Amino acid sequence: MKNDCVFCAIAAGEIPSFKVCEDDAVLAYLDINPFTKGHTLVIPKKHSTGLLDTDDAVLAAVVARVRKVAARLKEALPCDGFNILQNNGEAAGQTVKHLHFHIVPRYAGEPFVFESHKGDMEELKALAGRVRMA
Ligand code: AMP
Ligand code: ZN
Repeated sequence: MKNDCVFCAIAAGEIPSFKVCEDDAVLAYLDINPFTKGHTLVIPKKHSTGLLDTDDAVLAAVVARVRKVAARLKEALPCDGFNILQNNGEAAGQTVKHLHFHIVPRYAGEPFVFESHKGDMEELKALAGRVRMA
């Protein structure tokens, strides 16, 4: 790993991920320890640590992709709603220092909590296949 960043390594294909979609600048994949079923991360391929040090053009591309992936999750899972979460700094709970937006699908009747659990790899693989975009 060239800069010790796990998300750069995912973007470079050096470590595996359950990809949902990818273009030249942006990548989306399932969170390995999901809050809820279909919890997805959207990142720029170019490293920046958070909201404040990301180029405007990169941020615009990421946010546009967040919206498209959220729409896709709503249809493909399906889910009833979703939260967008983006943490900046350890005090805010950021554990991976590479800009990322969380899309947390929500399901009617399920309790509204933010609590992750260990992901089931087979379930994540099947889910990524179901959600994957062209
Ligand atoms: P944050 O707390 O906002 O920094 O979120 C980092 C997220 O990255 C957490 O929800 C982790 O479960 C997730 N994560 C860490 N490593 C991986 C990985 N290799 N593949 C997918 N998600 C990951
Ligand atoms: Zn990085």
